[in-house]
Amino acid sequence: MSRRKTMNPEPNDPALGDVLVSADRLQRRILGLAAAIAPTYAGRRPVLVAVMQGSAAFLADLVRAWPEPVDTVHVAAESYDGTRPGRVRLTLPPDLRQQVAGRPVLVVDDIYDTGATLSEVCRALEALGPADLRSVVLFLKHRAGGPPAGRSPDWVGFEIPDHFVVGYGLDYRGRYRDLPYLAVFRPVESGR
Ligand code: 5GP
Ligand code: MG
Repeated sequence: MSRRKTMNPEPNDPALGDVLVSADRLQRRILGLAAAIAPTYAGRRPVLVAVMQGSAAFLADLVRAWPEPVDTVHVAAESYDGTRPGRVRLTLPPDLRQQVAGRPVLVVDDIYDTGATLSEVCRALEALGPADLRSVVLFLKHRAGGPPAGRSPDWVGFEIPDHFVVGYGLDYRGRYRDLPYLAVFRPVESGR
C-alpha cells in the first residue's frame, strides 16, 4: 500500500491535515450501523438510494455489512465548488419512480453539512411515492453557525467538527476519494 494510504497522510502534501476517523473505526462503525438499521426493514427489502459521488465508499461497505438483501439506486448531487457550498444540483435516473414507488427507501449520504443536499434528495424521492423514507449519513458536521434547518438524518455514523474533510469517498476537486480514512483538508488556494 502506498504511503498516502497508510494511517499517516502523505507527508509531502501540505494540504492534507489530521486523520479525523481512521479506516478501522470507519469499518467498525459501519458494521454497527448496518446492524442497528437493518431491523427497521425486517422482511421488507429496502431500496438504498446513494447520493453520488461522495457516498460510493460508504454504500459499498454498508451493503456488504447489511445482514439481509437490499436493492441499490444511485442519484447524483453536486453542490460544492472546491471547498465552497453552492446550490444543490440533482441528477436522477429515468427509472427512479419504478425503483422507489411503494418501497421502503433509505437515503445513504456521505456527509451532512448545511442539510441542503439531504432535503433536496428527500423532496425529490417523496414525490415518487415511497412506502416510507429514512436516511443515514456517515458524517454529521457541527457547524459554527449552529444546527442547520431542514430534514435531519435518522442515523449518523460520526459527528465531526466544522472542518472541510476529504477521504473515504469525499473529494477536493475530484481528488482524495480513494483514501480509506477521513482527514482534514486545508486547501492552498490562490486569489482568496
Ligand atoms: P450539505 O448539502 O449538507 O451542505 O452538504 C452535503 C454535501 O456537500 C455532501 O454530500 C458532500 O458531498 C459535500 N460536503 C459537505 N461538507 C464537505 C466536506 O467537508 N468535504 C467534502 N469533500 N465534501 C463536503
Ligand atoms: Mg454528497
